[in-house]
Amino acid sequence: MPVKNRFAELLPEITAWRRDFHENPELLFDTHRTAGIVAEKLRDFGCDEVTEGIGRTGVVGVIRGKAQGSGKVIGLRADMDALPIFEATGAEHASKTPGKMHACGHDGHTAMLLGAAKYLAETRNFDGTVVVIFQPAEEGGGGGKVMCDEGLMERWGIQEVYGMHNMPGLPLGSFAIREGAFFAATDTFRIEVEGLGGHAAKPHETIDTTVVAAQIVTALQTVASRNHDPVKNLVVSVTSFRTESEAFNVIPQHVELKGTVRTMDAETRAMAEKRITALCTGVAEAFGAVARVEYIKGYPVMVNSPEQTEFAARVATKIAGDCAPAPLVMGGEDFAFMLEERPGAYILVGNGDTAMVHHPKYDFDDNAIPAGCSWWAEIVEQRMPA
Ligand SMILES: [Zn+2]
Ligand SMILES: [Zn+2]
Repeated sequence: MPVKNRFAELLPEITAWRRDFHENPELLFDTHRTAGIVAEKLRDFGCDEVTEGIGRTGVVGVIRGKAQGSGKVIGLRADMDALPIFEATGAEHASKTPGKMHACGHDGHTAMLLGAAKYLAETRNFDGTVVVIFQPAEEGGGGGKVMCDEGLMERWGIQEVYGMHNMPGLPLGSFAIREGAFFAATDTFRIEVEGLGGHAAKPHETIDTTVVAAQIVTALQTVASRNHDPVKNLVVSVTSFRTESEAFNVIPQHVELKGTVRTMDAETRAMAEKRITALCTGVAEAFGAVARVEYIKGYPVMVNSPEQTEFAARVATKIAGDCAPAPLVMGGEDFAFMLEERPGAYILVGNGDTAMVHHPKYDFDDNAIPAGCSWWAEIVEQRMPA
């Protein structure tokens, strides 16, 4: 089964939507224009219910199949937000707002899920209910979590959820997926080290906070290298070291360290938090200083459920002839929050040989639309056959 003919017909229309979104990028939760267009189109398609303002600017649409006997409800999710990047594609449809850009292809994701919604509302060739979910603030802000916190899954009775992201470097319109842990948990930390400031020529009358903080940076390298099973994945990076004085002759009272932790399982994540806290406070105490650690939990590990992953791969194989095994990604993805609440799967669709996502020359390739839309439609028609 190749791509659905209907999506070949709809390609010019869906491409026009995608390029309009691309020209008008919006950041985080400020996706007012995009969400407004999404809601208007869902109503035009004849969706049975359209709700705006879930997760601030999220939109939810409901499409009921021609049969309802199965009682099944499937959620399909796309993201709508752009990035604070100056676009350098030179494309005719380039961003009209300097400093904002659809550099992660969420314009394509939104357009593809709209295309699938149009088809599903036309045909309704399934037994059950589809809930299409358009979320803001995937690129930081956790819009998916805010939607879940507002009762997305319970309110619409969603039983399983599916997500899709384009991927440069993967052949255009092909698919790749991975069962289990797929995208990393992305935590951050801020460490405030306080010693005793003073004159740099009288170090014996101070507790040198810079020396203490430097020992902490070195000690933190042992979390990944000494506390952790080397066959598993863990990144601990200190990314900022800031003293409160620029002077040559002052020992500062405070130093602030910042960094990020990337993990692939809950056990490693908990271990990293515990060891970072213990090392910071212990090292500081040994020097007579104090370290205050703020460990900020970001997106959790995104875990694909076995049954839904196998099913998603089977659908992708029918469309594209194959579904490749995807590697682990140490980046984060806030679809993880939805997969924490319901079983489901997240798949990658190839964007071909383009610049990487988040690069100023990246652009979503519209020729991936028929494959992406077909995957959405087939997920529904095969999971809930009429
Ligand atoms: Zn991104
Ligand atoms: Zn993205």
